[in-house]
Amino acid sequence: MSGTFSLDGETHEVDNNVWVVGDDEQCVVVDAPHDVDAILEVVAGRTVKAIVCTHAHDDHVRVAPALRERVTAPILLHPDDRPLWELTHPQDERGHLWDVDLEDGQTITVGGAAITVLHTPGHAPGAVCLYVHDLGCVFTGDTLFQGGPGATGRSFSDEDVIKESIREKLFALPDETVVHTGHGDDTTIGAERVNLG
Ligand SMILES: [Zn+2]
Repeated sequence: MSGTFSLDGETHEVDNNVWVVGDDEQCVVVDAPHDVDAILEVVAGRTVKAIVCTHAHDDHVRVAPALRERVTAPILLHPDDRPLWELTHPQDERGHLWDVDLEDGQTITVGGAAITVLHTPGHAPGAVCLYVHDLGCVFTGDTLFQGGPGATGRSFSDEDVIKESIREKLFALPDETVVHTGHGDDTTIGAERVNLG
C-alpha cells in the first residue's frame, strides 16, 4: 500500500508491503502502514493475535494504534526503537507506547506456526526480522531487500551494524529461505548472500 515516509525533515512517497501470517482462524499482522481498512481486508475476519512491527519508521507503524482499536490486539516492538516510535506516536498522558517488547530469540505462535524474532539492528536500532521455519521464509522489514541491505543514511541507522546483523542472523538461515521484504519484491537468503559477498 502507498503512503509517505518522513525522517530528518524529508518526506518521500513509498509503497509498503503488509504481511499477514496465520491460518483460517487467526493471524499476526506484520507492520501497519498507511491504511487500516486495507489491512483488515487481508485479515478477512480472522482473529488478529498481534501487530508485530519490524521497526518503528512511520511508514511501518503509522496506523498500528488505529488497527489495535479495531482488532483488540497488542502492538509488539523492540524497545530499542522507542525514539523512532515517539517521533510518530508521542506518548499520551498515560504514557502509553506500544504494548509488548520484542526480544531476540522470542517465539510467537500463530495458526500452528512458530515465528522466531531475530533482533537485527542497523536500519533502525530496534529492527527485527521474523523467521518462520515451518513456512521456509523470513520477513525482513527494511533490513534486507532484493539487492542488498536496507538504507542506513538517516538518523538512528548504522551501515556496519546492519551488515553485521545480516551476516550473523540472516545468513545463518538456509539458502532457500524466501525473504519477504518491507518494500518491493521477494528474494532468497542464498541470492542475497551472493550479492553482499
Ligand atoms: Zn524503515
